[in-house]
Amino acid sequence: MIDLVDIDARPTLDDYGTYLHLRPAVERLQETADQYRAAFEGRTVWMVNSTAEGGGVAEMLPTLVSLLREVGVATEWAVIGTEHEAFFPLTKTIHNLLHGAGDPALLEDHEALYATVSRELADAFEDRLGPDDVLVVHDPQPLGMGALLKERTGVPAIWRCHIGLDYENAQTRAAWDFLAPWIAPYDQTVFSLPDYVPQAVADRTTIINPAIDPLSPKNRGLQLQELTSVLVDAALTASIHPPLTPPYDAVVKRLQTNGDFAPATQPEDLGVLFRPTIVQVSRWDELKGFAPLMEGFARLKKRRWNGDRSTLHQRRLDLSRLVLAGPDPASIQDDPEAQAVFQDLIRAYQHLHPHVQRDVAVLMLPMESLVKNALIVNALQRCALVVVQNSLREGFGLTATEGMWKGRPILASDAVGLRAQVRDGTDGRRVREATDPDEIARTLDEMLSDAELCEAWGHNARNRAAERFLVFEQVRQWIRCMHGLVEARAA
Ligand code: UDP
Repeated sequence: MIDLVDIDARPTLDDYGTYLHLRPAVERLQETADQYRAAFEGRTVWMVNSTAEGGGVAEMLPTLVSLLREVGVATEWAVIGTEHEAFFPLTKTIHNLLHGAGDPALLEDHEALYATVSRELADAFEDRLGPDDVLVVHDPQPLGMGALLKERTGVPAIWRCHIGLDYENAQTRAAWDFLAPWIAPYDQTVFSLPDYVPQAVADRTTIINPAIDPLSPKNRGLQLQELTSVLVDAALTASIHPPLTPPYDAVVKRLQTNGDFAPATQPEDLGVLFRPTIVQVSRWDELKGFAPLMEGFARLKKRRWNGDRSTLHQRRLDLSRLVLAGPDPASIQDDPEAQAVFQDLIRAYQHLHPHVQRDVAVLMLPMESLVKNALIVNALQRCALVVVQNSLREGFGLTATEGMWKGRPILASDAVGLRAQVRDGTDGRRVREATDPDEIARTLDEMLSDAELCEAWGHNARNRAAERFLVFEQVRQWIRCMHGLVEARAA
């Protein structure tokens, strides 16, 4: 019912600190830890969620837990489970409702189930929890358990909500009403952005941005030959030289004009190492804005937005290519919505003018190995002249963070999560309407017109990611947030 998760060996702060550009952030974390460490002596911080694998929370927790441990905050990661089969479908409904979607009637008469499971979990957990420990509960599944433990033991308790929507509707109201009595006992709540905080908890909320790990396979630096190796092994680039390593078992597949998929080097090499390449990597979700981005790129290619382009600008535009990449849909067969969005995109591609088709690559990335998938994303983002995230809505948008960290200028939409990261005219550009292909085309054209400006924006973006969106900053914020509660309890 409650399982502790082992965490594999991960980079230490010393490992991170050997990279000069990471050192300031590492040192800031060490200073914060030195300041507050004593308050955590004799306590265990319990991070609790509902899965050890899959999804952003499970991906982020190992780094968070291992860094907290390293700076002297004893931390455990516990995962809840239950034999009540209707429980996780119920919490999935709550999750969707918090995102504004689904049928609120699905919550009716489920209060008792939620209470029963929460009570059983609290019974199972209570003995492990010391009176001085700190409980950090992630998302709605273990929320009720944490509320009961807080009531029974008085332990400092934080609810970390990773879900967010910046407006209210009947769905969100129903979900928040359902959760309200379970949130009430907590000392603090933590949200990713201020826009997501429901009014009822606004007086006891801390904002902690999501963050990336700069040494993970998706974000670590790739030396030139390793980068080209990834591209060649994944069939993203043809090579005239014998390969250093064997090709990946599963390679990147590219949509062909007849609707079939073939290794991405067909019908010809993409040219990501040579051409001005515009890259968006996302799940196949309508809200990620692939379709208007593709149409925007097609209009950019077809029209003369700007009468007096320099020769270089025109050349850059002529050679530019758009890469739209996402997970192989075979890996998401249980997601019919994603399948439908992918099929729509295939149809839209087939309607493009043949000249534009040649310059647009719809790629499915292999998912057999998550490390290889991450390396492919890493390599593609590093090859990009511009990293795009054209989301109609976006909780945060780690793909933008990833592009910023790689020093790429970003073309983002105005969706809440992207607005919080990308400063228009400083880290790249933001379009006001993700659904407006003309605005996208105009903005891309501006970006292609000035390579020096793009270079400067990429530089700013990297600095901003280094200061604000790396995991060290996240750990600092957690230490400060938990310290406040521990002190308040001691007082
Ligand atoms: N991603 C990936 N492979 C893919 C598509 C997406 O690894 O084929 C990653 C992407 O690099 C990012 C994450 O999935 O790290 C998506 O996070 P984001 O916050 O951008 O959007 P979400 O999918 O959570 O809505």
